[in-house]
Amino acid sequence: MGEEVEKSEVVKYGSYLEGKWFTSGSEFEVVDPATAKPVAKVSTVGREELKRALIFAEAARPAWAAMTAKSRGAVLHKIADEIVRRKAEIARTIVLENGKPLAQAEGEVGMTEDQLRWFAEEGRRAYGRVVPQQANGKRHLIVKTPIGVVATIAPWNFPLALAVRKIAPAMAAGCPVILRPASQTPLSSVLLAQCMIAAGVPAGVFQLVIGNAGVISDEFLENPICKKISFTGSTRVGQLLIERAAKNIKPLCLELGGLAPLLVFDDCDLEIAVRETIIAKFRNSGQSCIASNRIYVQKGIYKEFVDRFCAAVAKLKTGPGMEPGMDVGPLVNQGGLDAALAQIRDAVKLGGKILAGGDRIKELPGFFLQPTVIEGVPDDAACMNEETFAPIAPIVSFDTEAEAIRRANDTPFGLSAYAMTRDMGRIFRLSEHLEAGTIGINDGAPTTTNCPFGGVKQSGWGRELGSEGLDAFLETKHVSIGGVE
Ligand code: NAP
Repeated sequence: MGEEVEKSEVVKYGSYLEGKWFTSGSEFEVVDPATAKPVAKVSTVGREELKRALIFAEAARPAWAAMTAKSRGAVLHKIADEIVRRKAEIARTIVLENGKPLAQAEGEVGMTEDQLRWFAEEGRRAYGRVVPQQANGKRHLIVKTPIGVVATIAPWNFPLALAVRKIAPAMAAGCPVILRPASQTPLSSVLLAQCMIAAGVPAGVFQLVIGNAGVISDEFLENPICKKISFTGSTRVGQLLIERAAKNIKPLCLELGGLAPLLVFDDCDLEIAVRETIIAKFRNSGQSCIASNRIYVQKGIYKEFVDRFCAAVAKLKTGPGMEPGMDVGPLVNQGGLDAALAQIRDAVKLGGKILAGGDRIKELPGFFLQPTVIEGVPDDAACMNEETFAPIAPIVSFDTEAEAIRRANDTPFGLSAYAMTRDMGRIFRLSEHLEAGTIGINDGAPTTTNCPFGGVKQSGWGRELGSEGLDAFLETKHVSIGGVE
């Protein structure tokens, strides 16, 4: 990483605000989940610095908003070029701070590039419209304008892609952005800031603030310069933000937690079903908001699916993300590992039978859990009701499609859902009745840049990606023109 502020055993990094790198005496350590050892120090900004950053962003706003979308798009393409140029370094940094296998980190960098290029072009399609008048002598225009300075709060599980999923559309729409990354994973954001600088992004249009989540979000919530907060993280923090946003009616975009059901029907192609269930469950070491939390298999195919699934799980390689050929990395920290082990203990206590894994990998120093399969878990077990965020696959059986839909929807969450089936009628019924923002049919990785992504119920407000992702950073105004005789 090029922009370290201080050379020591553990390198120290800072924030990027007011067009300069900033460090302070207050700092925290970033820990490698594969070794449980610190790999960097990051200094934090306080509320005063953030206030200044917001003023600086506001000063940059008019010129950025006045640029043509095509010119802004050209800047976004340059950021993408820079990210591609430094792909290997960025991917290794994601592995270092997050733990995921290198190939998946490279995939995340590819996803990030794709998001930047999509919104670089989509910005040019921020269309308004002309609406036929109801009364003679009037004309009606619908006009889209950038919302203003945007705050983004990102999670650690896809530290680069989920930040850029907010930043790219906001910038494309004409909004300056301030990024606040997760404390576990600020290093890839430092690299992103370097790419922004190298791409010639005007100083106030992108700023990076690393620091205490509560302090920073308080300023975002209370400062009138900040016109919208786009947050990805847990439903618990989402609820907190909603409560605190009420005072100033601060607009929020919330990408929150999930509890995805995955339904395997008798008529599925078993090979595809097993392959895609492995992806839906174990990608990102199970730490994905759209990870399949609960697997329901129809009785006629249950034994064969479970046998084949366990055989596929046995082939998964678990270990440090930097070692070649790994499929599953460590969990992000000790808390994540403890929570996963607690879910396993709870499932077993309630009658679940472990078919694979079930414990931490004691030979490895980091936060590694064996890929785990548990069958016969009752519906009231914690792993069927609380987001797991670990490579644990609870499998239960069902009889009918109606029962599967009822059990799938029996949760306050609705981010994603999956089904393995070849029946076209059923695919339409599931699309209509499953309560989820994204539905993967025979597809364990359904998210794609050009389609909207977001949750229903307690999984969030608003959509990212697709055309909807741009719309989130645009105001829609109606202009009524009279006297047009
Ligand atoms: P989290 O605790 O909510 O953290 C997410 C982000 O919010 C981090 O940057 C965190 O900072 C920050 N944060 C913590 N407390 C805050 C507060 N009081 N005010 C404002 N920001 C605060 O979530 P997590 O458990 O680390 O991440 C996993 C969760 O994110 C899961 O529930 C997952 O489903 C969800 N997620 C959702 C999506 C989606 O698109 N829907 C995508 C990925 C993840 P610190 O790091 O300093 O705590």
